[in-house]
Amino acid sequence: MHAKMLIGVIAFGIALIIFANISGGNKVDPRFSITYSEFLNKVNDREVSKVFIDGKTIYGMGHDNKPFKTDSPDDPGMMADLINNNVEISASPQEKTSFMSSVFVSWLPFIILIGVWVYFMRRNQSGGGGASGAFKFGKAKAKTFEAGQVKIKFSDVAGVEEAKEEVGEIVDFLKDSSHFTRVGGRIPRGILMVGSPGTGKTLLAKAIAGEAEVPFFSISGSDFVEMFVGVGASRVRDLFVEAKKQAPCIVFIDEIDAVGRKRGSGVGGGNDEREQTLNQLLVEMDGFEGNEGIVVIAATNRPDVLDNALLRPGRFDRQVTVPLPDIRGREQILKVHMRKVPCDEDINPGIIARGTPGFSGADLANLVNEAALFAARARRGIVLNNDFEKAKDKIMMGAERRSMVMSEQEKEITAYHEAGHAIVGLSVPEHDPVHKVSIIPRGRALGVTMYLPEEDRLSYSKRRLESLLSSLFGGRLAEEIIFGEDSVTTGASNDIQRSTELATNMVKKWGLSSKVGPLTFTEEEGSGFLGQGHSEKPVSSSTAEMIDAEIKSIIDRNYNRSKDILNSKIDILHAMAKALIEYETIDRLQVEQIMRGEKPTPPSDYTPRDDDKPGKPNAPVTEPADIKSDTDNPQTV
Ligand code: ADP
Ligand code: ZN
Repeated sequence: MHAKMLIGVIAFGIALIIFANISGGNKVDPRFSITYSEFLNKVNDREVSKVFIDGKTIYGMGHDNKPFKTDSPDDPGMMADLINNNVEISASPQEKTSFMSSVFVSWLPFIILIGVWVYFMRRNQSGGGGASGAFKFGKAKAKTFEAGQVKIKFSDVAGVEEAKEEVGEIVDFLKDSSHFTRVGGRIPRGILMVGSPGTGKTLLAKAIAGEAEVPFFSISGSDFVEMFVGVGASRVRDLFVEAKKQAPCIVFIDEIDAVGRKRGSGVGGGNDEREQTLNQLLVEMDGFEGNEGIVVIAATNRPDVLDNALLRPGRFDRQVTVPLPDIRGREQILKVHMRKVPCDEDINPGIIARGTPGFSGADLANLVNEAALFAARARRGIVLNNDFEKAKDKIMMGAERRSMVMSEQEKEITAYHEAGHAIVGLSVPEHDPVHKVSIIPRGRALGVTMYLPEEDRLSYSKRRLESLLSSLFGGRLAEEIIFGEDSVTTGASNDIQRSTELATNMVKKWGLSSKVGPLTFTEEEGSGFLGQGHSEKPVSSSTAEMIDAEIKSIIDRNYNRSKDILNSKIDILHAMAKALIEYETIDRLQVEQIMRGEKPTPPSDYTPRDDDKPGKPNAPVTEPADIKSDTDNPQTV
């Protein structure tokens, strides 16, 4: 039986039992419930005209015609009271009815449950019902769009020009396949789109259908993987039967790796069901000639785990990489999505693109959406640059938690910590410029220093890496210099973790230590079915010692450099911390002013808040001990 269905039926049964129990005894509006003592008082005050006793529950009516209800303890004296006070008494033949009703209440859910079960079993056997019903075993769960229903066009897909070019000819083919076959061209039947989640693979596949105005069938690989052997295979069969009827068309299979993993490599033995499904898919793909006009597009971000049989000529023999967008791609994607919301003119998508390295198309779409939400919350009809800033910060660093009250001391320490990062970052060579420094708690971080890379970086020089190490230490060192060694907080735990990783990779992976030399000591991507993993290469103990010493020396070198910088710029450190305590967030302009020794101008969107005036009692901070750890975002420390 279908797992979801079973669970659904059981849940329904449980809901029914609960409902039956709740509704069981309440025949009188609960508002009329009174206590037993109140009841007795009423009786003795001769306010009660009649009662109906149903087991332990007493329903009554006053002389004022108001009903009430009470539950009696076993009170043998009650009858005498009632009789003495002229109350008309009636009672239910309670034993029997309550027994009957309890039987009914306890069996009803099961009767219904069995009924529901029988109903669905019959429905399945007869094969009727809607095409996409969850209770249908064999039929493909594909989402179908008729020809012309897909409105997405190539112009909606931005920043992936190469991929678009590669699939461009498929549109021509789908539009007029005879033209293609006449000249003997071989039409691809399977295209594998490779790329991280959210890069627009689905979007691109849809755009092909939209441009060619052909039907679009979409199904996810995980939909094929069912508990019952044969279901996945029959879904594949049905899907292709349907597709052939509607050819030319596109069949899109998302997450192909869910079915297409290398056979016989599953953990804990093979998965018969998956293999059958995969075999059926291969059969279907071999079964149609190119001129049938079905183009199968599959998406994955793990092409390496796919079964070789899938990649053979005539199957998914063409790979289209859909990469994460670069800076220009991001700008174009932003423009596509910004078209859909009313944006202020002075928003510069180029600058937003610069501040969002690593964002996928889906992330950028989300960014625009979040910005629009900020504008909507402010009841503004237009999205401003500031909304984008806030949306970006929210996505990259978690939502601001203005409700979390920091103590004055925590605020001060955080201000020095972040100022330390910023000042060191601005004083070492090849470091990205500071974009903003903030001590507003976000996500798990108490404060954040953001850098804005000038461009996407594909590689890092040793000098830049060491600069990064220095700025990572700036936070902890500023705390130490100002408050003394014993007052440093756990706030630097993430900084320390990252700097350790960085130094370790420099020595063990990137060959950036002159003593150890250009050797690698880590094996990346463990092969085999357990997926990726790091494993250490065995090394001699003397090498291990040398590696450790080198890591330590890189760390020490930059720790000391960071310390020297902060000691020599102690006035600037004080000034920046002061500005942070006052404004909480300062931008590049203020940071630069402070670095020049000038008094910073208040940030443009600065409005004094009244909820953090000194003297306000501190709310307890209910957070794990290491709340001060910074976020994981590579750009923030
Ligand atoms: P994938 O299939 O690669 O996981 P999707 O195609 O489902 O990603 O992308 C999700 C959403 O992200 C899309 O609906 C679209 O709004 C946005 N998006 C992703 N990539 C792009 C792009 N290159 N251009 C425009 N929007 C994009
Ligand atoms: Zn830090």
